[in-house]
Amino acid sequence: MKIAVAGTGYVGLVTGVCLAEHSHSVTCVDIDDKKIALMRAGISPIYEPGLEELLVNNMERLNFTTDYKEAYKDANVIFIGVGTPEKQDGSANLSFVYGVAQQIAESIEKDCVVVVKSTVPIGTNDKIEDLIKSKLVHDVNVYVASNPEFLAQGTAVRDTLHASRIVIGVEEPYAGEILKEVYKDFNAPIVVTNRKSAEMIKYASNDFLALKISFINEIANLCEIIGADIEDVTLGMGYDKRIGDRFLNAGIGYGGSCFPKDTKALHWLANFHDNELKTVKAAIDVNENQKLKLIKKSRKYFSSFNGLNVAVLGLTFKPGTDDLREAPTLVNIPIMIEDGANIKAWDPVGVENFKKKYPDEITYCNTIEGTIMDADVCFIFTEWDEVKSFDLSKYSKLMKTPIVLDGRNCYDLTSARKANIIYDSVGRETIS
Ligand code: NAD
Repeated sequence: MKIAVAGTGYVGLVTGVCLAEHSHSVTCVDIDDKKIALMRAGISPIYEPGLEELLVNNMERLNFTTDYKEAYKDANVIFIGVGTPEKQDGSANLSFVYGVAQQIAESIEKDCVVVVKSTVPIGTNDKIEDLIKSKLVHDVNVYVASNPEFLAQGTAVRDTLHASRIVIGVEEPYAGEILKEVYKDFNAPIVVTNRKSAEMIKYASNDFLALKISFINEIANLCEIIGADIEDVTLGMGYDKRIGDRFLNAGIGYGGSCFPKDTKALHWLANFHDNELKTVKAAIDVNENQKLKLIKKSRKYFSSFNGLNVAVLGLTFKPGTDDLREAPTLVNIPIMIEDGANIKAWDPVGVENFKKKYPDEITYCNTIEGTIMDADVCFIFTEWDEVKSFDLSKYSKLMKTPIVLDGRNCYDLTSARKANIIYDSVGRETIS
């Protein structure tokens, strides 16, 4: 089977490489020729654990090109994995997806199954099918299938090779059979349904997880006020299998390229149908506030950042990725800069991307020690392993004033107590 994948971002490239790992011949298409040149040289343009090794190991089954016509013309299956970013009004911007649909219509010279992996609002697969069929240049049959992606950045390769489930949304059995064949060596439960249900499974899953995070963050905020400990609370809750212990980590809110936009897009769509999703709206509002929690906490210790040496540990929206989309740092750091802070920052993989936004305003350090040296305050925004395993006694040894504001609850309170620091985290007692 000849497979093409449109888009070589976190979803497209991981999909292409994992399909090649399962012996398929895959042509990955992107409009960005710099990315294509890197991949041809065996270099992954994104940071994702295990991805580059897998790419290099499967080079003989992988092609990378910007020439979409060549890639699509005789493909049996074309995956669409381009971005669906948020528009100003919260709805999904489908211009990239429709752009690929148009290119597919121009290019295909034989029957083919078009598989929509991008997260798209309910009903979009129908529109993609109509668009392709109305613009076809050659007399061929096209079948559109929804196959939403559930990978998480930081564990994308593992999530794809050992998927929790493969969802296939089709309107005719043929496309479903082809997709089952594509995925025959992937050991995962397969859910076959219609296209709209498949599209909804993706949004409902992401929005439910966002809700879980916002719920536990609200409980954490209340714990702080009334003297309960969120870590003990979630431990006690997590044993209940109906609740589960995952996605119960209190912190400074979700970020990334999915939860923020997918909550807003479903909320927008529901409103459009005059059927507001109030729980989803609450999750969005709570998250917006939570992102600023550490800045609000910092007011207890000083009224302005002006002239303060601020250490920032972690820039990305979560560990294991170089992605900054919707990272809490992007709303916190501009406030500090505006207020006159001297910022030093550390992140194991996110610095290059952050430098594109703030080349001169921040001093980027290679070590945590160098970052916290002489700092008046330290903000932890991402729970990298290097931060979690950092020797706590170094904060008091190296900082001017050892105030550690931890947005990800990286340390247990017993260790913090012994470290002679002021340690203010989320949903727990402040150690001073
Ligand atoms: P991304 O922004 O990382 O990558 C998109 C890629 O598509 C870019 O490299 C861009 O250059 C390319 N592109 C744009 N137009 C193109 C065209 N006409 N032909 C070929 N390539 C083109 O996006 P992503 O994070 O991989 O997300 C892709 C989709 O998957 C989105 O709908 C997203 O919501 C969904 N999704 C993302 C994740 C995630 O964790 N990132 C997880 C599940 C689902």
